Amino acid sequence: MLRVHSYESMGTHDGPGLRLVVFVQGCRFNCLYCANPDTISTTGGKNTSIEEIVAMAKSQKAFFGKKGGVTISGGEPTLQAAELIKLFKALKAEGINTCLDTNGNNMNEEVRELLEYTDIVLLDVKHMNPEQHKYITGRSNDNTFKFADYLKEKNIKTWLRYVLVPGLSDQEEALIALGEHFKDFNNIERLEILPYHTLGKHKYEVLNKPYKLENVPSNTEEQLERAQNMLKPYFKYVQVN
Ligand code: SF4
Repeated sequence: MLRVHSYESMGTHDGPGLRLVVFVQGCRFNCLYCANPDTISTTGGKNTSIEEIVAMAKSQKAFFGKKGGVTISGGEPTLQAAELIKLFKALKAEGINTCLDTNGNNMNEEVRELLEYTDIVLLDVKHMNPEQHKYITGRSNDNTFKFADYLKEKNIKTWLRYVLVPGLSDQEEALIALGEHFKDFNNIERLEILPYHTLGKHKYEVLNKPYKLENVPSNTEEQLERAQNMLKPYFKYVQVN
C-alpha cells in the first residue's frame, strides 16, 4: 500500500511528456515555500494499492506517447521506497516510463533498489549553502549531495530542479556555486529553474500554520532570465519550468 495524497493526470511540469503525477504523503523537510504543506505529515493521505495505481497508469498509457509516463512526487517519495519498488517494477513491465521527484535526503538499500527501476530522477536542490539550506528546509543538504553523487556514479538520468525564491535562493554566489558543483555531472540532462509562487499559501491557513514568506514577491521575468543566463554555461540545458 502506498500512502497517496493526490493525483494529477496529464501533468506537464514533472518530467518529460504527458504524465500521471502521483503525490505521496510524508516528508522530513519543512520547506518555507512548500506548495503542498499538507503532504508533509506522514499520517495524512489515503492508503492505495499498487494495483490500483498501475491500473490508472495503464488506462492513461495512450496519452503518455513516447516520452510520458508516471512521476512520483510528494511529499518525499523515498520514504515509501519499499512500496515504490513494487510500483515501478510493475510500470516497467508495462513499458511505462518512471520518474522520481526527490529532495535526495534519504538513501538506503531500498532507495538504491528503487533507483534501478527509475528512468529519470528529478533531484530538487534547495540551496548550496548549508546554513541557508537549513533555514529553508530545517535540514542539512549533505544527504542531497551524497544522493547526487550516487546518481552520477550509477549514471542515472537526472534533471536538477531549483526553486528560485527572491532574496532567499537567488543570490549570485548561490547560483554560481550550484553551477560549479554540478558542472561535471554528465548524468544531469538539464537544470530546471522553478519560479517561486504562492499557490500553496491558502493551504497554510487551512493547516493553521504560519506562512513565513508572506512578503516575498513572485519572480519577475528579468530575475528568471538572469538566473537562466547565469546557469547556462554550466549545464547542457537550462529551462524555466
Ligand atoms: S521537500 Fe518538497 S514536499 Fe518536502 S517540504 Fe520541501 S517542498 Fe515540501
